[in-house]
Order: sequence, then C-alpha cells, then structure tokens
Amino acid sequence: MVAISATDRVFVLTGAGVSAESGIPTFRGVNGLWRNYRIEEVASPDAWRHDPRLVWEFYSMRRRVAASATPNPAHLALASLEQKLGERLFLCTQNVDDLHDQAGSIRVVHMHGELFKSRCDTCSRAPFRDTNTYDPPAELPRCDCGGRIRPHICWFGEVPFELDRIFRALDECTVFIAAGTSGVVEPAASFVAHVGGRARTIYVGAEEPANASAFTECHLGKAGEVLPLLADSIQ
Ligand code: NAD
Repeated sequence: MVAISATDRVFVLTGAGVSAESGIPTFRGVNGLWRNYRIEEVASPDAWRHDPRLVWEFYSMRRRVAASATPNPAHLALASLEQKLGERLFLCTQNVDDLHDQAGSIRVVHMHGELFKSRCDTCSRAPFRDTNTYDPPAELPRCDCGGRIRPHICWFGEVPFELDRIFRALDECTVFIAAGTSGVVEPAASFVAHVGGRARTIYVGAEEPANASAFTECHLGKAGEVLPLLADSIQ
C-alpha cells in the first residue's frame, strides 16, 4: 500500500459501503431497506410532487435506521486522518447519515445532503436539524410560509451541494481516495477521471467499482479494515 506523506493533499470520497459495517444498508446491496421501494418513486422531485407522503415514509424509515447506527473503524480512521492532516484533508461524502460527524470529522462535505436536516420546498429558509419521523397518517410538516417541509437531500435529477468547493479541492489534491462507492452515481463517479494522471488514485471497497480502471490502486476489503491501515501509513 502506497504511504501517504504528511505534505500530501488528500481528497477522500466516501459512499454507502463505508457505513455498511455500521448496519446501514447500501443502495445496491441485497438488504431490504431499498428493495421495498422504487427509487424514482421516493427520491426525485417528481416523487415529491406526486406523493410526498410516500417520500416522507421512506425518509422516516431511513432516519430510524440511521438513528440507531454508530461510527465504525472506517469513520474513526478518517476522523484521525483529519487530525493528522488538518485542512490538507478534504472529506466529501455521498452518504446522508451523520456517522462521519459522529466520529469526530469536522469538515465533512455532504454532497448529497443530510438525513437529519429538512428544508422548505418553497421559501429560502436555511436547512435545519430535524430528527422527526413523518409517517402517514400524521399531517405532513409545513413551513410558516405555507410551503412543505422536505428532506434536505439531493434527489435524482437535482444538483449536488457544494460542487464548486469540491472541484477546487479535486484540482488541488495529490492523493484521491474513494471508499465504499460503486462508481455509478454521477458526478461523484467521474471525480477519479478528473484528477487522474495528476494525483495518485486509490480505491478501497468490498469489490471492484464500475470505474475501477481509472484507479492506480485498488484495495479490496472492508472499509473498516483497510482505511485504518491507510490512515496509519502517514509518515
Ligand atoms: P452503492 O450502494 O452503489 O455502492 C456501495 C459500494 O460499497 C459497493 O461497491 C459495495 O461493494 C461496497 N461495500 C459494501 N460493503 C462494504 C464494506 N463493508 N466496506 C467497503 N465497501 C463496501 O453506494 P454509492 O456508490 O454510495 O451510491 C449510492 C447512493 O445512495 C449515494 O448517492 C448515496 O447518497 C445513497 N446512499 C446513502 C447511504 C448512507 O447515507 N449511508 C446508504 C445507501 C445509499
């Protein structure tokens, strides 16, 4: 495994696989969490327009699952990497759970939003912390402006958050690490191609991702076992 030097600028992209060992099912895994729902019926602007109750049922279920999860060694390793590298580590997650934050990572960029935040679908009120579950037949939450309160999630067809900051960090990094992500969901799947040829690119995950050929190194294994080794390799 290539060691990371203390002068490197490291960009880490995490995906659902990093939270799998904490008991949160991945998107493409066989676990029942997603199997009972058609993703376009619960995670898209169209779904929100047509059936906000079903959308809240789905996100309420995800909030319940995530509320009982705790960080695993992968989250802890990335928090300790931040302590060593400071602002030379840029941690970008596709995960909407708060396990990186719980593990002690301070500067986490949640490009797909945060499960425990909501916002108004009509006014510009800032996203706010919200751990409630809204299951039918309860009334769905409304903003003071009359708009509907929706999950603070980037749905399919919406633009991920903080892309300007993310691409600046990609342009500056010398090491790019992707962990536990299948390399299918865009634009994150193309980050490795964006830095390729200039930065060292490392994949960590249970199996080869769809974009495996774009990485200079692939370390197959559980994130909770491989990421601590990588974090410890800092000289
Ligand atoms: P994905 O489900 O498409 O892929 C998960 C990847 O993790 C797979 O390649 C799998 O081999 C790997 N994996 C499974 N267990 C692992 C382990 N213990 N260690 C390392 N790797 C492991 O996930 P994705 O690429 O992140 O894309 C799915 C989308 O769904 C994202 O947009 C994300 O926002 C969302 N999602 C988020 C969560 C969460 O917040 N925890 C959970 C499920 C899905």
